[in-house]
Amino acid sequence: MKYTVSRCPTCGGLPVAEVNTVPVFAGLVQNEDGGFDYSGNSKVDWNAQEAWRDEDDFTVVHCAELHSWATEVESEAAA
Ligand SMILES: [Zn+2]
Repeated sequence: MKYTVSRCPTCGGLPVAEVNTVPVFAGLVQNEDGGFDYSGNSKVDWNAQEAWRDEDDFTVVHCAELHSWATEVESEAAA
């Protein structure tokens, strides 16, 4: 894949990471009034990790200096 903005606007570094999403199943316990609280135990579903994109196919990447920026992702067909 290619990014429309492939250099950090702040320092000129290359992107080293992209925002991805991962579902987390947060454990629940029933409390005294019948509602639920978080148990403090969570299970991460790493098999469902996927690239995050907004509705315009932009993502967020960051450089080694941890500056982040939004960039459009060029489709494989356009690469
Ligand atoms: Zn940077």
